[in-house]
Amino acid sequence: MNLILVPIGKVDPEEIRMLKDPLEAAFSRDVAIGEEIPLPAAARNAARNQYDAEMVLEFLSLSLEPAGGNRILGITNADLYFPGMNFVFGIADRRCALISLHRLRQSFYRLPEDAALFLHRAVVEAVHELGHTFGLAHCEDPRCVMRFSNTIAETDRKGPGFCSACRPRVCSGAAGRQWRAG
Ligand SMILES: [Zn+2]
Ligand SMILES: [Zn+2]
Repeated sequence: MNLILVPIGKVDPEEIRMLKDPLEAAFSRDVAIGEEIPLPAAARNAARNQYDAEMVLEFLSLSLEPAGGNRILGITNADLYFPGMNFVFGIADRRCALISLHRLRQSFYRLPEDAALFLHRAVVEAVHELGHTFGLAHCEDPRCVMRFSNTIAETDRKGPGFCSACRPRVCSGAAGRQWRAG
């Protein structure tokens, strides 16, 4: 069972590669990098200038039928939304996860870029959404990566690690059952 990182639309290859080692450490599994797939035009909401996260996730899972229990993480620069929410950092189903880098850059908040902070945020969001594909729900432990974050400050407070309750479920490799937005 491997993790496969898939760029969706134009993404700096270095911003995909930087996730490889941290994700291998977090999940104790090999991480491969797949071919870029396009952003599905039908998922774009022109009025919001955002993409429908569910539609992009569905397109990702149809594009790469996950085999052998592999988990797929789609990575995009597009800003994502979910019905009832202004935006989401990511979304996941049983096998596929999706994160947006859009709101992880300091420039989004009109601040100078910070490469280390950007890497931290991208790893936290990637581990969180992939955690959902292993059946993990949101966790109340404030430092656990599975705690829900609705603001970038909440993402910044978390580390990329699982708490002692969440960690064993990732190691067991059971198929995800729950579905979570955010
Ligand atoms: Zn936890
Ligand atoms: Zn979540």
